Amino acid sequence: MTIAADSITEQVLYDVAYEANKRAAIALPTDGASAIHEAHIRETKPMARFVLGQILENAELAINEDRPMCGDTGLPRYYVKAGNEARIAGGFVGLERAFRNALADVTRDVQLRANRVHPLTRKNPGNNVGIFAPDVDYSFEPDADWVDVTVVHKGGLFGTDYRMLFPADGTDGIKRFLLDNLAAFARRGLSCPPVVIGVGLGGTKDRCVSLSKEAACLRMIGDRHPDPSVADLEQELKELANKTGFGVMGVGGDTTALDVNVEIAYTHTGGLPIAISQFCLAYRRSTARIHADASVEFRDEPLWFTPYYRREGVE
Ligand code: SF4
Repeated sequence: MTIAADSITEQVLYDVAYEANKRAAIALPTDGASAIHEAHIRETKPMARFVLGQILENAELAINEDRPMCGDTGLPRYYVKAGNEARIAGGFVGLERAFRNALADVTRDVQLRANRVHPLTRKNPGNNVGIFAPDVDYSFEPDADWVDVTVVHKGGLFGTDYRMLFPADGTDGIKRFLLDNLAAFARRGLSCPPVVIGVGLGGTKDRCVSLSKEAACLRMIGDRHPDPSVADLEQELKELANKTGFGVMGVGGDTTALDVNVEIAYTHTGGLPIAISQFCLAYRRSTARIHADASVEFRDEPLWFTPYYRREGVE
């Protein structure tokens, strides 16, 4: 996709947000499609194998018929990574205006489900736009003049939870919380497994929860955290999740988790906060980079967790 313009304008941002929402709703990114395909090949339980086959067939139909891959299109949200040298005509107010307009139009044109309602009156604007809807999260990157836009349509009313552990609870406490979380949601099919599980460890409570969501939605399936102690934990938790045998949609099977991603933040010395988020089988995500000359490239990899984003120490 190439948009001819000489700066990152509101129109460019609108076009990218529109296209990214459409792509996210309809087609699985390559890592999600491959992971489900491999789970289907590996699966030894007939019912789970059948269900995984249906998921793959449905994913293909969605692309062929140009329609959302799940009737529930979740809660669309944006993650923006802005280069420190990026210049946006209209600024971030213009960016957010473009994103809200694009989501309202995609909701109408691609028939996203109008899920966002007022929490008390249940008034539904019908376009997924309201107070703090859609969410827009930001991060920044040095020595760059581009803007990355990632759209995530995260489904699942359930699957996210938080617990304050003590440091002495250690890895056993982390595993216990993971099992409690899976038992509460996956076994009953409330999060539509196979899922990608994001674990936030440490930080403040709000950072911990948001990290768990970013870990679930903004890493590639199969990659590992650069810190070997975290990478080992990811592998251990993935094996544990799949040993539960809950399987796809809770029917019993070999694959409950396509992956487990752990992200960490330095935390209070007296605590070990942990949060878990699950990204359901409708693993909907699309990323675009808008360069300074307004040319646009779509790609599968969000590249959200850069070395700068995970930096530590004093610069
Ligand atoms: S949890 Fe995911 S797959 Fe299940 S209904 Fe919601 S969006 Fe669809």
